[in-house]
Amino acid sequence: MPQVETVRGPVDTTELGRTYMHEHIFVLTPDVQINYPDEWGREEDRVADAVAKLKAAAAQGTRTFVDPTVVGLGRYIPRIVTIAEQVPELNIIVATGCYTYDSVPFFFHFRGPALAAVGVEVADPMVDMFARDITEGIAGTGVKAAFLKCAIDEHGMTGDVARVMRAVARAHRRTGAPITVHTHPGHHTGLEVERLLCREEGVDPGRVVLGHSGDSTDADHLSALADLGFVLGMDRFGIHAGDATFDKRCDIVVEMCRRGYADRMVLSHDAACYIDWIDPNVISMMDQWHYLHIGDDVLPYLREHGVDEDQIDTMLVANPRRYFENIAPY
Ligand SMILES: [Zn+2]
Repeated sequence: MPQVETVRGPVDTTELGRTYMHEHIFVLTPDVQINYPDEWGREEDRVADAVAKLKAAAAQGTRTFVDPTVVGLGRYIPRIVTIAEQVPELNIIVATGCYTYDSVPFFFHFRGPALAAVGVEVADPMVDMFARDITEGIAGTGVKAAFLKCAIDEHGMTGDVARVMRAVARAHRRTGAPITVHTHPGHHTGLEVERLLCREEGVDPGRVVLGHSGDSTDADHLSALADLGFVLGMDRFGIHAGDATFDKRCDIVVEMCRRGYADRMVLSHDAACYIDWIDPNVISMMDQWHYLHIGDDVLPYLREHGVDEDQIDTMLVANPRRYFENIAPY
């Protein structure tokens, strides 16, 4: 029976059930948080708030959260362990990788390939760091990452974005753990992922979620990415900005289902129990950006517009399971 690592240890992939493929528990800026702790407040209050929100998601029928919080997003696994122990009804799967739209964190600036500028050839330490998180566990917690995360945004394939993506590709091929890439579909960055990750580094697109594909309403572009083999993350339900209204986020899923791509899409909110990137006054206005929105609002809309239960199950259960079962190194 195939198994996947979660915060509480390995579980059979048959136990994953309804899975949201891109949800954070926390998104934090630890350096700022440590020095200006007022907004964060008391640790035990934040933990209790997270436990309550995760319990509500589980009560609605969600069995698994896939959390792509890595370096650059404030990953801190001991806190996630504390929370997971209090919500045994929900599986939490965590990631390794590095999140940047332009430059690597300064920790990496003068290590690995950056040293080529002074004539020293050193392998990128990120590859071993990521692989160790997957094979041995994260920071002595015993919790193993089960997938890899990197990002490319509107700045495109900068030198450091490419560096992280190559490190992710190499850790992926060594360990077999699948990949999620934050992309910017408006800038067609999925095609840049295909060039570097797949054509240059030999990664199978079927093992890669192109996150935030659902920000786009361009069904032809998304169909082209799906035809390349990628899984499309329709994963920001509840974030309504500019063109990305509730109806448009739903309608693109309806259209892609109509075109026969239910087996290439996964659904999620990209929400968090707490994120320090956004003014709390703004967050309080984003009243549908929470873990219950898909169940409360999106699924009823999809059903009304012709998406059937088989397609919903495919997106929420079968596709995530396939992603975590396709894990042979190569
Ligand atoms: Zn995210």
